[in-house]
Amino acid sequence: MSGWAPYPEVRLLIGGRWRDAAEHRPVVDPGTGETLGSVPLADGRDLADAVDAACAGLRAWRRTPPAERAAVLLRAASLLRDRTEAIAPDIVREQGKTLAGARGEIARGISLLEWDAHEGRRLDGRVIPCGPGLQVTARREPVGVVAAFAPWNAPFSSPMRKICGALAAGCALVLKPAEETPAGAWHIAQALQDAGLPPGVLNLVFGRPEAVSRALIEHPAVRLVTFTGSVAVGRQLAALAGQHLKPTIMELGGHAPVIVLGDADVEAAARQGVQAKAVNSGQICVSPTRFFVERSVHERFTDAFVAAAAAVRTGHGLHPDSQMGPLANRRRVDAIDALVGDARGHGAHVACGGVRPGGPGCFYPLTVLAGVPAAARVWREEPFGPLALIEPVDGLDEALARANALPLGLAAYAWTRSAAHADAFADRVEAGALALNHYTASTAETPFGGVKDSGFGREGGIEGVQAFTVLKSVSHRFP
Ligand code: NAD
Repeated sequence: MSGWAPYPEVRLLIGGRWRDAAEHRPVVDPGTGETLGSVPLADGRDLADAVDAACAGLRAWRRTPPAERAAVLLRAASLLRDRTEAIAPDIVREQGKTLAGARGEIARGISLLEWDAHEGRRLDGRVIPCGPGLQVTARREPVGVVAAFAPWNAPFSSPMRKICGALAAGCALVLKPAEETPAGAWHIAQALQDAGLPPGVLNLVFGRPEAVSRALIEHPAVRLVTFTGSVAVGRQLAALAGQHLKPTIMELGGHAPVIVLGDADVEAAARQGVQAKAVNSGQICVSPTRFFVERSVHERFTDAFVAAAAAVRTGHGLHPDSQMGPLANRRRVDAIDALVGDARGHGAHVACGGVRPGGPGCFYPLTVLAGVPAAARVWREEPFGPLALIEPVDGLDEALARANALPLGLAAYAWTRSAAHADAFADRVEAGALALNHYTASTAETPFGGVKDSGFGREGGIEGVQAFTVLKSVSHRFP
């Protein structure tokens, strides 16, 4: 794609200095298959230097008054807002989402940063009544150096969640974004540098994921590990952190159910469901996937959903007509195609999409499956792509039983006009987040995370900043 500024020359950031490496790996545009640039791969020395730099950064940052820390973060937010039009095309080219999607992701990331910047000024503790002559306080302190790992599906907002929570709490961090999509985090780091973040407070590394995570998690100076990505990798990293007795925040996969009852606004549930499904080509952990629709409105819902899904225009994210971009890499196309093939083999009906297009780029159409037999893999495996299943159910109890049947529980959605039904969903759904009559699973203000295999710990909200703190009790007997 021509007519855009060159893709940035991404570097490691260690101790406030940009650093190149001997080895690189290419960064590829999934919409064209063309190489955009490359990312340097840190070696053992770079990683040790990054942790040393974070230790030095921590000493300065934890002593910086909260109001000054907030001012730095808010200056960075303002710079990022000014730079949105320069950052968005880089995210489109490295990850595939549409330009509107990239702008939305940047706006969301900035709102996370601003919210956490303010919240960092309110990390107060408690005075605990323990009797006369004795004052006991519980103080929140920064947990220390954080090792953070962010995935490729949200190159800006996912690293931002980790950066802003840690920095607002007074921590320093070593962040490893995904090597496939390095520019989002690189722009954030650049803005924080320009806003006056002291050297070493944020360090940016790329490398071989397994080697980087092992080196960082095993390093004695690292006090907390935060990861967003697949359940499989989350298990490995949590196990490694457990061996070293380090707390973790794990934001892992989902397979979000949507329950639509007969009393709901069925057309809105279908139309907005397609819009939500098309976001980032379905490559978000909260993407609505398993639609359980009460039998009385099942046909109406399916017709509306399939008509809207078939009308979604797929194309390169920088093309103004595109409503859905390519998938982020060839692995995802292969995975979606295999899930559709398996479902078809079991007798599922492909209501729309389901055909892998030829030509360059990692494209796959928005695909709707109906009548999917229970044995099909897609009921159990998170598609993480543009795939929706629609299934009739008889009433709320069956819908909830189906929704809760998986070992995953990140986001869930339900549509109903009945307050009693809404309350039953709130009470009985097994998920970290439930959205009733809409499809927004989280905002900057809300604690977000999973239950069951979808992980533990919360990002966002008050809890998302507190997660980077540790409580110290101080008891003071007056002489
Ligand atoms: P994957 O399991 O190989 O990798 C997932 C992420 O973890 C990637 O960003 C990768 O760079 C990183 N990673 C892999 N090994 C690592 C290690 N040892 N240490 C640190 N980071 C490591 O899968 P994938 O093909 O890249 O992605 C597919 C699956 O990942 C999807 O099915 C989805 O479930 C999951 N995923 C989830 C999210 C999310 O937001 N929860 C985001 C991206 C991917």
